Amino acid sequence: MVRIKRSTVVGIVAVALPIALIAVLAALFLPGSGQRLVTLFLINLIAVLGFGIYSGNSGIMSFGHVGFMALGAYASGLLTMNPVVQKTALPHLPEWLAGWGMSFPLALLVAILVVAVVAVVIGVPVARLGGSSASICTLGFLVIVHVVLVASADITRGSQTFFGVPRAVDIWVALPCALLAVAIARIYRDSNSGLKLRASREDEIASTAVGVNVRLHRFCAWVLGAMLAGAAGALFAHFLGAFSPKDFYFNLTFMLLAMLILGGISTVSGAVVGTATIMLIVEVLRKFEGGVDLGFLSLPTVFGLTDIGIGLAILIVMYRLQDGLMGVREIDEKLPFLRRLGGQAKAAEVPAAAAPDRDTSLKVDNVGRRFAGLVALENASFDIVPGRVTGLIGPNGAGKSTLINCVSGVVPASSGKVLIDGRDVVSMPTYTVPKAGLGRTFQNIRLFRNLTVLENVTVAASAVAAAGEDAEALALCYLAEVGLADFADRLAGTLSYGAQRRLEIARALALKPRYLLLDEPAAGMNPAETQELMQVLDSIRHKYKLGLLVVEHDLKLIMRLCDVVVVLNKGQQIAMGTPAEIQANPAVVEAYIGRKRSGKPATASQNEPSAAALQPHAAGGLA
Ligand code: ADP
Ligand code: MG
Repeated sequence: MVRIKRSTVVGIVAVALPIALIAVLAALFLPGSGQRLVTLFLINLIAVLGFGIYSGNSGIMSFGHVGFMALGAYASGLLTMNPVVQKTALPHLPEWLAGWGMSFPLALLVAILVVAVVAVVIGVPVARLGGSSASICTLGFLVIVHVVLVASADITRGSQTFFGVPRAVDIWVALPCALLAVAIARIYRDSNSGLKLRASREDEIASTAVGVNVRLHRFCAWVLGAMLAGAAGALFAHFLGAFSPKDFYFNLTFMLLAMLILGGISTVSGAVVGTATIMLIVEVLRKFEGGVDLGFLSLPTVFGLTDIGIGLAILIVMYRLQDGLMGVREIDEKLPFLRRLGGQAKAAEVPAAAAPDRDTSLKVDNVGRRFAGLVALENASFDIVPGRVTGLIGPNGAGKSTLINCVSGVVPASSGKVLIDGRDVVSMPTYTVPKAGLGRTFQNIRLFRNLTVLENVTVAASAVAAAGEDAEALALCYLAEVGLADFADRLAGTLSYGAQRRLEIARALALKPRYLLLDEPAAGMNPAETQELMQVLDSIRHKYKLGLLVVEHDLKLIMRLCDVVVVLNKGQQIAMGTPAEIQANPAVVEAYIGRKRSGKPATASQNEPSAAALQPHAAGGLA
């Protein structure tokens, strides 16, 4: 059951109210042509929302949704057509399709169902793909639908006009449908699935690392979006009464995508503003397209003026506002008084950590990884034990990040095993690894930049939340833990560098991990930020008693924090022991000094451990 938040309701009302007002005023006071224009706006809006549910949330441009509109139009048209008219218009119609003469509402529902079935079938392969491969697939779908419609002359009249569809749609029919579509799109956007899909749009790898099953959510959005597009198609058909396959092809796709992009692809308010703006531009330019005589000036006929106008509008808006007119946040998320109306999430109590079970350590057993010919990692073997901090050090390129990637399943190990509770990570789908108890951060910060700070953590919290648990409230708690509770409503990308690193830690903590892997958490931080981070790490190691693995070049931090240190060099694990043992280990000192002899100055990077830093008496050394 979808729980609808108060902020979602506020968001729906904020968008639906103006639409309803304009439509009602138009219905009461505008002449027929004005009413038709508003009706068309409402239908286009449903289609744009259908595009947006998939493309806006997943970040994958779809060219295929007009194909679903076409299916919706023809399916519903066939069902509502008067049997007598049908005999003339479609004399060769197969018997099972003929003579239904359904009412429009029923035909609308059946058409949506038909479209959903097709979307499920197409969605299985499409949801496996991301980026431009998925886009090309959707384009292929559009072309196939078009060709099939043209070729199925017995059912569709081929490329000729399909006529005889009752004109059952006016402003009073389109309005409730559009309002319902607004509500559906917004509820989906704010839902668990929508939030997770938006997270994957921002960073697919990071979303998988917090337990998001990207394919599943892409699939859900694809089918839901297709159903809205199908509904828009059916409404369109019963608004026009007659149409042909070319009405549902590239021109319409271009126009609907223009609406989506101009307004802002990722918001419902963007869809509304984009649809209205493009329709206004088209209306104005259409008047000029055929040439105008202004008395003192006569403008010639300009072929394609409206398309040029739409293109120019997109260019101008995108040049100034990359995320479209409305940006990446909904109108109610931007306006303070609407935000207050929506209410604030309240922090929950984080349940106390259970006493660590030392038998359930994470085992890294002889793990290796090759990239083509390059051996990035070989024979790493150690345990990450709950309640203990393990340091992982080594020069740049030693294979530390590769090891973390292998352990978290982001990159499969080519040899050896990573065992969590006796299960090999290689055999688990990557998105299930976090649920098995493993959280991680990335060397190069990977946040969901266009989601709020709170949403970043909520994505992770909801991956492991028990039934009835409020993921958002838990997320707030973890934010407080790293000192970011006051920034909950900010977009993650606008935080300072140190705060972004801490947010990444809060996001990983929200997975309630038993093992937490931090890849250079202090990299690029100034001393004050490093100090803050130390406090955070100290507090979470004591509070949650998790098994911590920290990769760090700041040896002072490593030596202060860690119980055990593992040293990698050129992919080989060359030492493991207590900080004191590591300092005294000749192989470790040799690895660093060896680098110095090979011509590289030990001070080449301030982030790298130097041979000098390994000497106990060195300034800022290990003591
Ligand atoms: P560290 O984190 O210790 O600095 P890495 O694990 O990032 O080192 O890299 C170890 C080696 O593996 C490096 O030589 C690096 O170039 C190589 N490597 C890491 N990731 C990839 C990849 N995806 N493709 C090819 N080579 C990689
Ligand atoms: Mg690294």
